[in-house]
Amino acid sequence: MSGQTGVPGFAGWRLEHSYAGLPSIFYTRQEPEPVRAPQLVLLNDALAEGLGLRIEELRSPEGIGLLSGCRTLPGSRPLAQAYAGHQFGYFTMLGDGRALLLGEQRTPEGKLMDIQLKGSGRTPYSRSGDGRAALGPMLREYVISEAMHGLGIPTTRSLAVVTTGQPIQRERELPGAVLTRVAASHLRVGTFQFAAAKGSPEEVRALADYAVERHDPDLRGTDQPYLALLNGVISRQASLIASWQLVGFVHGVMNTDNMTISGETIDYGPCAFMDTYDPATVFSSIDSQGRYAYGNQPAIAVWNLARLAEALLPLLHKDQERAVALAEQALAAFSDLYQQHWLAGMSRKLGLFHPVPEDEKLVSGLLRIMETARADYTHTFRLLTLGDPESSRLQIADAEGYGEWLSRWQERLGRQPESTEQARELMKRSNPAVIPRNHRVEEALDAAEQGELAPLHRLLAALRNPYAYSAEQEPYTELPAQDCAYRTYCGT
Ligand code: AMP
Ligand code: MG
Ligand code: MG
Repeated sequence: MSGQTGVPGFAGWRLEHSYAGLPSIFYTRQEPEPVRAPQLVLLNDALAEGLGLRIEELRSPEGIGLLSGCRTLPGSRPLAQAYAGHQFGYFTMLGDGRALLLGEQRTPEGKLMDIQLKGSGRTPYSRSGDGRAALGPMLREYVISEAMHGLGIPTTRSLAVVTTGQPIQRERELPGAVLTRVAASHLRVGTFQFAAAKGSPEEVRALADYAVERHDPDLRGTDQPYLALLNGVISRQASLIASWQLVGFVHGVMNTDNMTISGETIDYGPCAFMDTYDPATVFSSIDSQGRYAYGNQPAIAVWNLARLAEALLPLLHKDQERAVALAEQALAAFSDLYQQHWLAGMSRKLGLFHPVPEDEKLVSGLLRIMETARADYTHTFRLLTLGDPESSRLQIADAEGYGEWLSRWQERLGRQPESTEQARELMKRSNPAVIPRNHRVEEALDAAEQGELAPLHRLLAALRNPYAYSAEQEPYTELPAQDCAYRTYCGT
């Protein structure tokens, strides 16, 4: 039921409210808190178009009112979602403390996409938080999520950032903002944990049926839909985490409430892209133990998926011992799935069309050299792609073992039927020339906070097509001045 069709000023909207059809424990109805002086800072025209929304409507006072929480669509029923989660290993009841689901937009292609305001005010799940978000972190989420999309990695998207005209209090006073987030859904591993901890078996089942409906509709009416749902999430996450590893993305806060059922990356709090190749890379100021370090991400994913499996146990088999065996079998598949995606991706990064298991030695040989030489991850693959493996700009050029590795790689390339030119093209499609380098992102955000948006637009343009290898992108391929210990913070 799309209530907005034909409403003046909102003609593009086709909002449905399927999540609100779940049992009431899964949400609380809540109106956004209006803000003083909303101003549009960023609007994602391409995304808006894909959603069937009209740019001129979104830019109008009504549209900005909607994107800031000052007004709601006629017939819309905003709600805060309930969920739980293991945060750094500890189980907690959570929920949207500063976000509201406006509804699900039915796109012209017939897909259903969540439209969520983030930073829209307090909710019953806010705990001690103020329900608000600062401009810098919301712009950062916009930049990094759109960069991930440009890289071809499943992710929640950012439709708009609006400033509120109301400062918020953090360590210092900061401008407040609201981000409009778009997602295949906001169902999390933590939503299932919430259902299992708080709900009846029927409520867990209602949630699982809803997840099947949203993400695996082909499973409706099959023999074991809930086991297949679990397998589906495991397989999507194995692919997702492999794609993070391939581009050097460190999520930073892989709590179970920040892992989606859809397989999209969510929660761009303390994330960052690794510069120097080092599996121990951590950016988050609060991750002192390195739980969510780059090299730990696949293992943490399995740990989180085990929490999902636990929540689903009552649905997997009426004999719980049998259910545990089925869950363990499903979880055991992660490692092979992940390894296949990772090796296939790494092989493409090295220009190999038909990877064989032995290629893993070639890949790990290169990674070892990079680690010892403290070489930049993206830069190394970019220079290898540019086809000058002896370039002095290559930080591994003089490293021990590199000469020998290079001969092995060239010999391996020579053994495949494809030409050198074809291999180079494959490498270009697989090794981004541009990633959102921390120093570049900070520079653009600092300027934007001073009201100067041009650097942010230039950065976004470069990130839109990271595999272009174009001259305009050159400035964004520069390495940071020094390998500084970059720190990120969540929750601002
Ligand atoms: P995160 O660390 O971003 O995954 O958030 C963890 C929890 O804290 C979620 O339930 C958020 O909704 C909540 N939260 C984060 N920031 C705020 C805030 N400023 N006000 C209220 N709740 C918040
Ligand atoms: Mg979160
Ligand atoms: Mg967050």
